[in-house]
Amino acid sequence: MTSTSFSGSPLPATVLGYPRIGRDRAMKKAIEAYWRGELSAYNLERTLVAQRREVFETLRAAGLTDVPCSDFSLYDQVLDTLCLVGAVPERHRAVTGDLERYFAMARGTADVAPLEMTKWFDTNYHYLVPELRPDSTFTLDLSKPRREYQQARTLGLAARPVLVGPVTFLRLAKPAPGVDPDFDPMTLLEELLPVYEQALTEFAAEGVSWVQLDEPVLAQDQPPTVLDAFATAVDRLGTLGDRPKLLLATYFGVVREALPLLRDAPVEGVALDLTGPGAANVGELAAVGGLPGKRLVAGVVDGRNVWAADLRRQLGLLATLHGLADEIVVSSSCSLLHVPLDVSLETDLAPDVRSWFAFARQKLDEVVLLARGITAGPETITAELARNQQVLENRRASPVTSDPRVRERAAQVSAADARRAHSYPERAARQAERLNLPGLPTTTIGSFPQTRALRRARANWRRGELSRPDYVQRMRAEVEHVIRLQETLGLDVLVHGEPERNDMVQYFAEQLEGFVTTRHGWVQSYGTRYVRPPVIVGDVSRPEPMTVEWTSYAQSLTDRPVKGMLTGPVTMLCWSFVRDDQPPAQTARQVALALRDEVADLEAAGTAVIQVDEPALREGLPLRVSERDDYLSWATEAFRLTTSGVRDDTQVHTHMCYAEFGEILAAVIDLDTDVISMEAARSHMSIAADLSGAGYPSGVGPGVYDIHSPRVPGREEIIEMLRWALDHVPAGRLWVNPDCGLKTRDETEVKSSLANLVAAAESLR
Ligand code: GLN
Ligand code: ZN
Repeated sequence: MTSTSFSGSPLPATVLGYPRIGRDRAMKKAIEAYWRGELSAYNLERTLVAQRREVFETLRAAGLTDVPCSDFSLYDQVLDTLCLVGAVPERHRAVTGDLERYFAMARGTADVAPLEMTKWFDTNYHYLVPELRPDSTFTLDLSKPRREYQQARTLGLAARPVLVGPVTFLRLAKPAPGVDPDFDPMTLLEELLPVYEQALTEFAAEGVSWVQLDEPVLAQDQPPTVLDAFATAVDRLGTLGDRPKLLLATYFGVVREALPLLRDAPVEGVALDLTGPGAANVGELAAVGGLPGKRLVAGVVDGRNVWAADLRRQLGLLATLHGLADEIVVSSSCSLLHVPLDVSLETDLAPDVRSWFAFARQKLDEVVLLARGITAGPETITAELARNQQVLENRRASPVTSDPRVRERAAQVSAADARRAHSYPERAARQAERLNLPGLPTTTIGSFPQTRALRRARANWRRGELSRPDYVQRMRAEVEHVIRLQETLGLDVLVHGEPERNDMVQYFAEQLEGFVTTRHGWVQSYGTRYVRPPVIVGDVSRPEPMTVEWTSYAQSLTDRPVKGMLTGPVTMLCWSFVRDDQPPAQTARQVALALRDEVADLEAAGTAVIQVDEPALREGLPLRVSERDDYLSWATEAFRLTTSGVRDDTQVHTHMCYAEFGEILAAVIDLDTDVISMEAARSHMSIAADLSGAGYPSGVGPGVYDIHSPRVPGREEIIEMLRWALDHVPAGRLWVNPDCGLKTRDETEVKSSLANLVAAAESLR
């Protein structure tokens, strides 16, 4: 191959997408105000246009001239693609008004159910799942990308419309309700491609020069049929006459078996993730002879994490790409949608810690700087490189990142530390003596309704408007209320209700050494729902007990056992940004040791039942099957390290928010808990059969009613659920509980539902 040039744009720099929350969460607020009927469609549109303009201007101000468009969304980019190709499900077509129909698909209405929502690859973003049927047809509606392209053009930018590619779109779709579940939406490729062809033709007529087709499914293991479909699709789209240039974008890891297809595709550009596990793409790329004749959009700035890049190292990486493509453009590894907007807003963070971070806005600067470095030469950015090296050095040397005592302790962990002293049958006998519970014991998952008044009290305390003693008194009153409620209802194992917790991860992150939390670090979870993941910046330890005062207080009010309640190490990691300077396994072990201390303190304070929630265990599964065993091995070890230091007569529970364990079933059993609870009502208790089929030995509480709905389940209905469960789980090991925590429900619903739950359990004893 000949030499690589950087001639594509004035500065060879771009990003694959940008956050759409808007400054001060303007978009979120506007959309929610529209839903409440407080903002007109016209004013929502005006906000949208203004916020989009702000993004374009931000990108340009950072020095980018090659910018994405149409990645900005009112809800979700997969839903936008569904609208683009006209795949609106039958049941939503009757909804009048484009916006109403759009939000009906996203959120449902009184009459129609929304589309299902699921996780976007291994991120914490959730997309809406398209529903297709064998006779689905497609029609193009290019209005959204066209509007955004035109808006960018009025600002003097030649933007690149971003669409979810046809193969990823079909791969993420599922058979519509009522359709044969074995129907494979990929069989619709021939139907769908003409719509993409038409889109490209119309884009060309509009003067669009580049279109980005996102095909992240290529970073996952795919059956040959999917790779064939991809080859067909790029061949068709690539050989279309008179079309814009095409950028095939992959992200979230190494592409591997699809790389030859990308190399040979009749398109002009390919984007590859070159960060984290995606760094392996560099070697793979060299092995297939690079991308002759193409532009490589090199994802060297991590779009998934919050750390400032090592610019010198990434420049070196860019240099190794020389000769592997005709042209190199520096980019983020994926859309910046997965990181918060701007770290400069975090004025509460210690300035040096803040300097270690790069959020979306800062990543733009990194991309631009690297682009300058490769075009004008590293000597033109010497000062910036030196400053960056100093930041990295400061981070490496900071006492915040490294605590020798934590490292020493983690290094001394032995396999035995992560195993309970005796097996389940022995433990169960000791626990039965101590707890003296009836058959089919009843319990809940932890939280009780979080009222507005409670949230206000927590907020006032944070702002210093409520003194610590007043705050404690307020929370204690709530704990007492919840304890009395449970006693009256006749529950067997009580909880304190979690009134003091804003969020199951943040609550602990705020108390653990090694974590920092942000004020404005919002990241989209789905739609207008944003979360603020904490960041693990250093070695993790627990300066003081975190939950003991609440659990002990609750226990002091009652003779019934009160369950201690912790968030597990894997969930702490999955719902935080993790440090990039050590393997996650090591971080998980540190978190586990900190939680292990909490478990020990709870036990010492007399807590006989301790629940460690791991709703994120399944989410953490790597995209590539070959990486899963390693993950499951450290993840289960971290859980067991948290829970195994207790006596035989202390009962360990865990909770998961789903019922399909699938390939993590063996790992779940390997957690070696005394009791596990999970969601089960919506899947008719099928989990009970799965667990018993796999030889699960211990206690199980398949949720008997769905807490996501305000509906109060009847006693008979719960009895029926329990009967199904009893077909697979012996009565001596079956627990009776709801699907998940009750914090989103109101107290009246909770009272009636739990009364029926207790009555159902009693009638079967
Ligand atoms: N203990 C937590 C609660 O009840 C569990 C939450 C969860 O499962 N996500 O709220
Ligand atoms: Zn749950």
